[in-house]
Amino acid sequence: MNVVYPGSFDPITLGHVDIIERISKLYENVTVLVSVSSEKNYTFTAQERKELIEKALAHLKNIKVEVNEGLTTDYAKKNKIKGIVRGLRAVADYEYELTMANINKKLNPHVETLLIFASPEFYFVSSRGVKEVAKHGGKLEGLVSENVKKALLKKMKRKK
Ligand code: ADP
Repeated sequence: MNVVYPGSFDPITLGHVDIIERISKLYENVTVLVSVSSEKNYTFTAQERKELIEKALAHLKNIKVEVNEGLTTDYAKKNKIKGIVRGLRAVADYEYELTMANINKKLNPHVETLLIFASPEFYFVSSRGVKEVAKHGGKLEGLVSENVKKALLKKMKRKK
């Protein structure tokens, strides 16, 4: 089965990488879908986010990274994908993921949402959090991969 893992990935963290490594062992092909929403203010452009993901996942074979401006369910329909993977951390994620899963089911009843629990060591890791750490000069080891660390430090320096 082919699945898609959609998200902002602004930027990709080791929490995301962990989810992708785990699902890449379960499914034939995984497409990491970089979403673009006019409602959101991103730190990295869609192309930057895509390149950071590609480099962070260079060790995996059955992964493809694409940018998607439309609905994930439309992408799934067009590409004959039957599963949307999402990661679940705290209870706070649950409500949002439940809503998204139900909307997506309405939009495309042929696609299932598959929820994977965050590993304990990444339970507290978020894109927003790592940006805050980078901004204040904190240690990024164990939170993001080396290429993302470099990109974050460069971006934060330019913003000062
Ligand atoms: P979005 O803006 O779509 O929520 P994110 O890039 O923040 O995009 O997250 C994409 C998916 O990955 C979401 O399902 C989110 O809950 C999950 N996720 C984010 N961080 C982690 C983590 N540390 N461990 C497991 N799942 C995570």
